[in-house]
Amino acid sequence: MNEISSCSSCCGLNNLKLTKAQKDHWLIENTTKFLKTDVGQAQNIVEFRKQGEDFLYDYIINHDTYVCPFIGYVATNPARTGCMLHPLAGIHKQVSQWEHPQNFSFYGESICQTFDCYSKENNLLENVKIDNLDSIIYGQITANQNLIRLIGIMCEQQRSQKSKLFEIIIEFLENNQSSITGFEGFIDWTKQDVNLWHAVGTLLSQEEVDYNPFNITKAGIEIGDKLRELSNK
Ligand code: SF4
Repeated sequence: MNEISSCSSCCGLNNLKLTKAQKDHWLIENTTKFLKTDVGQAQNIVEFRKQGEDFLYDYIINHDTYVCPFIGYVATNPARTGCMLHPLAGIHKQVSQWEHPQNFSFYGESICQTFDCYSKENNLLENVKIDNLDSIIYGQITANQNLIRLIGIMCEQQRSQKSKLFEIIIEFLENNQSSITGFEGFIDWTKQDVNLWHAVGTLLSQEEVDYNPFNITKAGIEIGDKLRELSNK
């Protein structure tokens, strides 16, 4: 969260029961609304946050993890999601009138600018270098540290090609949504006796997943089998 634009999962973007197209629609509307708001007035920012929280409430998957209404598109061409209150985002000129604009948010500036998810802290993002990857899909993969490490294991054990695996997963995420916040627990794959494809399916499902202990879900088996079939084509 400490960059001008990010994958936005830790801000809650992928904790929403929305498809990629629906997220895109909400992001466009939310950005437009923010740009039209007179954010020079504190009460308008407070009201923007309240209305956003009320609107998002019914779409939240895991209510233990907050979804911030200040997520929007902070760059175009390519479109990138990020924090509209970030002091350097610069999408709304009035934001710079405030010394600490992110303090209008639930987390506040000190958390917004210092939190790094496991993937970022451990340089796992290096493993997800894919050209022209859509920002919304990118976030669902990069924040999923367990998925990235699992893909690495599949490449070693099953000699699967990383590019092919990512291709299948990206195609899946074009039409299906995966629930991810970046706060999920660490799964030690060396201690798991599970079908790896079913594990991938479970991590890509839109359900809340148990991480400790990690359990394969019914949806995970269905998704995993479908993806394995695609990998053999
Ligand atoms: S205010 Fe904080 S939590 Fe909200 S979008 Fe910005 S960085 Fe994320």
